[in-house]
Amino acid sequence: MASRPTEVTADMLISHTHWDHIQGLPFFKPLSAPGNSFCIFGASQAGVGYMQRVIENGWRVSAARAFLRPAISRGNLDVRVGAHASRILLDGKRAVGASYVEVGNPSAQHVVRARREVIVSAGPLNSPKLLHLSGVGPAGVLRDLGIDVLHELPGVGENLHDHYGARGVVRIRNSKTANDLSRWPYLGWEILKWLTGRPSIVGLSASIAYVFWKSDEVLDRPDLQFVLTPISFKAGQFGVLDDFPGMSLGVWPHRPQSRGYVRAKSANPLDAPVIQPNYLSSSVDQRVLVAGLKMVRKFLATPQLSHFVEREEVPGPQVVTDDEFLDFARRNGSTIYHFAGSNRMGPDHDRMAVVGPDLKVKGLQSLRVVDSSIIPSLPSANSYATTLMIAEKAADMIKSA
Ligand SMILES: Cc1cc2nc3c(=O)[nH]c(=O)nc-3n(C[C@H](O)[C@H](O)[C@H](O)COP(=O)(O)OP(=O)(O)OC[C@H]3O[C@@H](n4cnc5c(N)ncnc54)[C@H](O)[C@@H]3O)c2cc1C
Repeated sequence: MASRPTEVTADMLISHTHWDHIQGLPFFKPLSAPGNSFCIFGASQAGVGYMQRVIENGWRVSAARAFLRPAISRGNLDVRVGAHASRILLDGKRAVGASYVEVGNPSAQHVVRARREVIVSAGPLNSPKLLHLSGVGPAGVLRDLGIDVLHELPGVGENLHDHYGARGVVRIRNSKTANDLSRWPYLGWEILKWLTGRPSIVGLSASIAYVFWKSDEVLDRPDLQFVLTPISFKAGQFGVLDDFPGMSLGVWPHRPQSRGYVRAKSANPLDAPVIQPNYLSSSVDQRVLVAGLKMVRKFLATPQLSHFVEREEVPGPQVVTDDEFLDFARRNGSTIYHFAGSNRMGPDHDRMAVVGPDLKVKGLQSLRVVDSSIIPSLPSANSYATTLMIAEKAADMIKSA
């Protein structure tokens, strides 16, 4: 879809969704009615609004496209693709480089030496794993893996958290959804519109609108996020669209309390890490998610939206009590892919903190972690923009060091 950027922060474009982008999906029309709160970035987050995206002229602008490509020809940048980092090399307490293996040819081992610093940015699941493989982490975990403890840091891999959400599915009337528009013959028309630079579902993000609200009126700010997606999938069949016009309404606790861990599975760098998120282990998360799921039902019963609702398919009218909603959430919920916290930033007195405010690994020199693993506690937001902000700030700190 030809959505022109309306804001550019540093090198990153932010595009906004407007009603004219989604006219093929009338379900969303009431959300842009006067009186609805769209000022979710203002003093109060509570309200409903369309998603911000990073899409330009119908194409997604990834972080690599926005930041790496413009810098790729610089003499001081060497991008090695297919390189799987296997260890950070320590000389005493100083990071002096890293080793990596070639993807597809793991016997080919390489070493890169660092003149100034080593920056770890392997993400919330692999950065702690890489530290473990390098002998940095909780002594017991490393010893169990047969890895020499070079620097004990109990917080590496702990404090893992994520947004855990559950989605309801609604059969829609009086509006098409992407279930219809992504099938022939509609799809041909959508592709034609996209090719000619006109608004089309081909250039939209999957999630169109969101709502921030409170699980309890006594709260002073929202603790729930709802996402409205004009698409629904057959139960238990990954990626297979329902045969009817369907909408998915997902909801999750904004600031989850449940904490888990991620660990290297073995000393083999090519083994995927062990991930234990402990979703819904906190009773607060259970209560908030149940309140959110019940709110979805109320939301769909409002006069503005009930016009479009033929019936609730999932969880379905048989789910009524709090226990039934919780059971539904446990069985059907899933990650929202916002993992964070596994190398958390914190002050010196926090023995579980892995990095300080300068993102330097505590007790080591010349080693920083720059990714979403440093987030101590997810903010009331999704994690992509949050991570870009961490990277922007880190770039300034690294340049000025
Ligand atoms: C399916 C999906 C949908 C999402 N949707 C949204 C959304 O709509 N909005 C939102 O705000 N957030 C979304 N997120 C979350 C967002 O993408 C992440 O929070 C963000 O990308 C985290 O950035 P990061 O740099 O910490 O980690 P990553 O983006 O995971 O980057 C880590 C990089 O390190 C590489 N790597 C890992 N291990 C090694 C190794 N050993 N050697 C070399 N390289 C390595 C990985 O390949 C990866 O490129 C989504 C995530 C997923 C997976």
